[in-house]
Amino acid sequence: MKSVMRYPHNQQPSALADNINNAMDILVLQHEANSRGFVEAQSLDPAQPPRVSANYFADKEKRDYHNQWRGIQELLKIAGTKAMEPWVGRKTEVPIPDAALSEGLKCALLGEGIRGTVSQDNPYTVIPCLPLEPATNEEWDAWFKEHHVSSYHYFGTAPYGTVLEGREFTVKGTTGLHVVDASIFPNPTRVNPQHMIMAMGHYLGTMLGYREAGHAALKSKVVGVPATHAEA
Ligand SMILES: Cc1cc2nc3c(=O)[nH]c(=O)nc-3n(C[C@H](O)[C@H](O)[C@H](O)COP(=O)(O)OP(=O)(O)OC[C@H]3O[C@@H](n4cnc5c(N)ncnc54)[C@H](O)[C@@H]3O)c2cc1C
Repeated sequence: MKSVMRYPHNQQPSALADNINNAMDILVLQHEANSRGFVEAQSLDPAQPPRVSANYFADKEKRDYHNQWRGIQELLKIAGTKAMEPWVGRKTEVPIPDAALSEGLKCALLGEGIRGTVSQDNPYTVIPCLPLEPATNEEWDAWFKEHHVSSYHYFGTAPYGTVLEGREFTVKGTTGLHVVDASIFPNPTRVNPQHMIMAMGHYLGTMLGYREAGHAALKSKVVGVPATHAEA
């Protein structure tokens, strides 16, 4: 993918292309988000899509903002180390007409120096541009809100303990209604969740199969039965 990604950048004037190709995309992964979103049924008709809100940065104590800010400051420190020198692009004064660059690229590649302001800019080529320091908490908060991305790992819309109970992940107050997918995790996993979701699915499928089919049938037919059940 790298060569494909570089293609549009290489269409830029060469001094800029070099800079863009060395640009950093600073990313702080938020493994333990404190904000909580929701998925809410809008109708009893299953064809009607639910209302979904991820509610990023909703945490009242602002822990998610704080963790993001702390992470970015640490990354900038790392970017400034000797070891990173060959890998980190620096903003340069490139003689190019203002009109040729979008605002987003101007501040990322040339720095605020081009506007005649005293540059308190960080010296690195970071896209999207970071707030100019000293930035207020509000400016940082606005920057995070504008630029955060989701990594597609959603959890907890039918959490165990709140919505589900028991060893068969039964919806509270029901019989025979079980849930097993990413929604059952009360808290986000710190690593990619797919294996855990599949393991849980296998666990519950085995449990229900065990109960339905009876011990003898399971012992002879179902592959991968946990040892405790096979031996019981
Ligand atoms: C782009 C992307 C990349 C990812 N990369 C990784 C990765 O590298 N590693 C990792 O561990 N995780 C990754 N994830 C996360 C992982 O894919 C999810 O956490 C996981 O698939 C969730 O499993 P699930 O069973 O809860 O839901 P899903 O896998 O989303 O399954 C839900 C299923 O229900 C079906 N469905 C929905 N509505 C209905 C309906 N009304 N009737 C019948 N069926 C319905 C859907 O079609 C779907 O097949 C990624 C996710 C995305 C989007």
